[in-house]
Amino acid sequence: MDTWKLFKRNSIWQVQAKNGDSWTWKQMLKIRDSALIHCGGEENLKQLIASCYKNSKIQLSSLYKLFSPNASKVRWRNTIWGGLNYPKHSFICWLTIQDRLQTKDRLMRRGIINENKCTLCSGQENRDHLFFGCPFSSEIWNQVMLWLQFKWRSCNWRCLLDWYCNKPRGRGDKVKIKRLAFTTTLYKIWCERNYRIFKQQYKSKDQLVKEIKMDILIIILNSSLPDTLKEWISLCK
Ligand SMILES: [Zn+2]
Repeated sequence: MDTWKLFKRNSIWQVQAKNGDSWTWKQMLKIRDSALIHCGGEENLKQLIASCYKNSKIQLSSLYKLFSPNASKVRWRNTIWGGLNYPKHSFICWLTIQDRLQTKDRLMRRGIINENKCTLCSGQENRDHLFFGCPFSSEIWNQVMLWLQFKWRSCNWRCLLDWYCNKPRGRGDKVKIKRLAFTTTLYKIWCERNYRIFKQQYKSKDQLVKEIKMDILIIILNSSLPDTLKEWISLCK
């Protein structure tokens, strides 16, 4: 098989198996497809692979750990996978929990950039700051939690994760909403940071909160949750 011919028109992410291709090649494409589904798309998978590089070399052991079944048997498994969560939200949340997102502090340590100024405020970007310590993000969390009438408040990463994972009060469906709020908010903060860096597009806190509420609302209204809960969330202000 001439592999280069296969890539003439398609990248490794798009190429499809054809009749006559070897068994090994077809298996490789099957693995690629399940990895794409698992990660919620090409961009997410590329980011995951990028997070496993060390000194310009891929660390297969890191990649294996991320994909191995044991890696997902941790206490936050239910918080990020399954339920009402979108795969792309779950995936970013998964990388965040493992501190594997390409935040500026990591890029700086690798010598790719030379400063790690937060794009949401004037602090220094690392995972804990970007999602939780940053005044911009704290306000987003507080507004989302206020909207959903969650009385508990914190912007400490460990406390927040612990609350979402270990203290899911209320009935099962409310827990699903709580988890959905967690993964959606986290994802939207990450997107806002990326839009600011790569597209120079800025949203205000209020705009972002509005979008988060809309995303959560749409997911819930299209879910199989009871009508009483759908009505409840529609009335949340
Ligand atoms: Zn900040």
